[in-house]
Amino acid sequence: SVFVLGSINLDAVARVDDLPRPGETVAGLSLELFPGGKGANQAVAAARMGAPTRLMGAVGKEDSGPNLKATLAGYGVQVSDVFELKGTPTGQAHVWVGSGGENMIVVTSGANAAVTPQHVAATALEGQRVLLSQLESPAQAIEALFRAGAAKGALRILNAAPALPQGAALFPLTDILILNQTELATYAKLDAEPAKLEEVSRASRKLMSRPDQIVIVTLGAAGVACIRRDEAFLIEGRKVKAIDTTGAGDCFCGALASALAISMDLREAVELANAAAALSVQKSGAAPSMPSKREVEAFLEG
Ligand code: ADP
Repeated sequence: SVFVLGSINLDAVARVDDLPRPGETVAGLSLELFPGGKGANQAVAAARMGAPTRLMGAVGKEDSGPNLKATLAGYGVQVSDVFELKGTPTGQAHVWVGSGGENMIVVTSGANAAVTPQHVAATALEGQRVLLSQLESPAQAIEALFRAGAAKGALRILNAAPALPQGAALFPLTDILILNQTELATYAKLDAEPAKLEEVSRASRKLMSRPDQIVIVTLGAAGVACIRRDEAFLIEGRKVKAIDTTGAGDCFCGALASALAISMDLREAVELANAAAALSVQKSGAAPSMPSKREVEAFLEG
């Protein structure tokens, strides 16, 4: 099974002709509300890929929180470890999209910031094979989860997104680190995003602190690079027509965790997650675009 510690947001997406400048008011063309947050998206992807998946996080009790929880449960995610907090708003992402696809986004963490190491300590982690987190939850809580998980032999996966300075302190506690090219450039302190496998591999090795660690770098349409101590390989991206790449990285992380939880070997799991992520970019939205295991298998059989 997969245990995700992560963020849960309400995403409000307004479309406009032209993005407003400071002080300006513009009329929105449409408004859509979606469940979001990297934690919630990745938990939905993991659950849709078949592994029993628990999500730990926090939402507000008096706003959209309970509704979001119900939506996530509808996708098959176990939400009993999602706390409903009084007097605290649910995390939100306010997204404005202009007619050319350019956007402006403000994320308020709200209840997500209230998850503590004490919450983690109070949770039974027995039987959780894979622990998965991202950097939209407090680093102290992630640290507590990974320390507790190590004692129980769980596989610890960190998607170090968004790139934050405090994220690097968690790398020694992780077994698999997942980054996109921008995040890799930030953490490895490179001026340009590495693209070739050799450059990606060299930058990734800078982030390793133990010989048994694995770094996985998502390369957008180009696919995924996987780096271990004495091996680096590339799984090429699947050729698809991209409609909306929002949540592609989240789909990859959740699907990979799900595949590893059922003991698939690393290369096979990366191939499956790469296919799942390619399917996800063919649909709009994050959570609604996460494919089921059946859809991914059918796609791979071509
Ligand atoms: P992020 O969304 O975090 O920036 P990427 O853009 O690297 O992450 O995408 C994550 C994964 O999604 C890729 O490694 C790949 O498997 C898949 N993917 C993303 N964009 C495409 C695309 N245009 N065609 C096929 N697969 C894609």
